[in-house]
Amino acid sequence: MNLDHVFKKTNKRFSQDEEKKPQVPEGLLCKCSKCGGTLLVEDVRRSYYVCPKCKGYFRVKAYERIRRLADEGSFAEWDKELIGGNPMEFEGYEEKLAATRLKSRINEAVVTGKCRINGCETVLGVMDGRFLMASMGAAVGEKITRAVERATKEKLPVILFTCSGGARMQEGITSLMQMAKTSAALKRHSDAGLLYVSVLTDPTTGGVTASFAMEGDIILAEPGALIGFAGPRVIEQTIRQKLPKGFQKSEFLLEHGFVDRIVERDELKQVLGDILRLHVREDVRQSELAALQSAIEAQTQIPREEKRQRYQKIGVWDRVLRSRDKDRPVGSDYVEELFEGFYEFHGDRYFGDDLAVMGGIAWFEGRPVTVIAQEKGKNTKENILHHFGMCAPEGYRKALRLMKQAEKFGRPVICLVDTPGAFCGLEAEERGQGEAIARNIYEMSGLKTPVLTVIIGEGGSGGALALAVSNEVWMLENSIYSILSPEGFASILWKDSKKAKQAAEVMKLTARDLKKAGIVEHVFGEPRKFSKETLAEVTESMRAKIGRFLETYGSMDAEALQNHRYERFRNM
Ligand SMILES: [Zn+2]
Repeated sequence: MNLDHVFKKTNKRFSQDEEKKPQVPEGLLCKCSKCGGTLLVEDVRRSYYVCPKCKGYFRVKAYERIRRLADEGSFAEWDKELIGGNPMEFEGYEEKLAATRLKSRINEAVVTGKCRINGCETVLGVMDGRFLMASMGAAVGEKITRAVERATKEKLPVILFTCSGGARMQEGITSLMQMAKTSAALKRHSDAGLLYVSVLTDPTTGGVTASFAMEGDIILAEPGALIGFAGPRVIEQTIRQKLPKGFQKSEFLLEHGFVDRIVERDELKQVLGDILRLHVREDVRQSELAALQSAIEAQTQIPREEKRQRYQKIGVWDRVLRSRDKDRPVGSDYVEELFEGFYEFHGDRYFGDDLAVMGGIAWFEGRPVTVIAQEKGKNTKENILHHFGMCAPEGYRKALRLMKQAEKFGRPVICLVDTPGAFCGLEAEERGQGEAIARNIYEMSGLKTPVLTVIIGEGGSGGALALAVSNEVWMLENSIYSILSPEGFASILWKDSKKAKQAAEVMKLTARDLKKAGIVEHVFGEPRKFSKETLAEVTESMRAKIGRFLETYGSMDAEALQNHRYERFRNM
């Protein structure tokens, strides 16, 4: 379809400099719409349009965002003069557009272009709510689509700041079609293995939510932003009920699994810069890394041979108790000790965010990895919050989502297992606990990226296996891995859970037993008193071994990795 007749170029040119001019005189007072407080305009501007009194977020103009986000002088705008037509010949629409252009000093509701953020090149699109509530007409859809297409061609990531009332009613069905057009372009961009981050700001609703806002590999949101498909007023009128406080806010979406992370406005540049850095293309990174590596090699010689492990002489039941010891380091301790710059991402994008498992991206010795760790918490309060590391279906689905994300970007996956078993309960069954575990086991076998699992505490049944269909599985000396807990085993076989100790003796669940049986590849020794204070003794050798794992498996292609995993389990 030739679109030239639809999209015109306007002769109105608004320069960025004009945009930067303050809209109100310096020192003037304004009122906060959230807390009603009287504020100095200058203070509001200085605090990046966050109310100094109530921390409420004001909306930010597109150019103002770009100015604060892009490295100085790096932003080059695209399709600045592109405007749409009046497809339905809607009366008064053209006049309204003209008046809006004059008032807002922008041509349409989105500004697109290319820039650098903390040195990383990216395509950037920012919606501006001053333009007909940043509703999505054909010009908005076209500008975003062109930006995404060009990003695909130039192999660049895309960042889109959303803010929209939804479809543009005056353009009718043409507006609706923009949802399909933008999404299709993003699908091609994704299929090319490129990163797309959406940043949801207040308000993101309707057709924008139901298309590109929710399609990010990573979805960030500003605090307190209204995000939803139907607007709250429409819902209230339809169901004739008052909506609960906080409904459809960013925090609500995070809890329900639809947002990866909420980011404060003044941290956005840093976070986006870090995320871009973590996704720098392999070939570019390799050349950077090679330079770094030769510098490191010149300084240090890493000892190649492994120390002979000296295992503790203790009984099987004592090992079971140690695997559950309250002072034993938990998943988050390892994440902190082994990796750098960890960014946690939340949610399964279906139902919720399960805190029994944490996952995200981090650096391991200069290369990005995806880390997924079952988390028990460190005290009673945390234990309850994290369900003692017993994952619900949404926990396994979050883990799988992050593994698929890792696969797309060729990042190795490192899983840390510590769970008594999958969460057992009514709701877990309703949401398909069995299906969730099955899906993980099924999909993990085919992941096109190296997968490593370390069992750091309890490896309880399918709840552990759902994170352990890996190229290698390692254990700690006093961790356990079994079909069921010794208590469960005793109660099923002998109808007496008090015989757990005897059960443990026959279950062959210790690390050494499992190594002998070829179920795990390696066992790490533990210090006599194992706690967070002595964790470094274990992670020291673990770090060296992970380094070698990444070297070995990182050099294998997708098919070799899949075959290796297939054969590993085929032989069991
Ligand atoms: Zn306020």
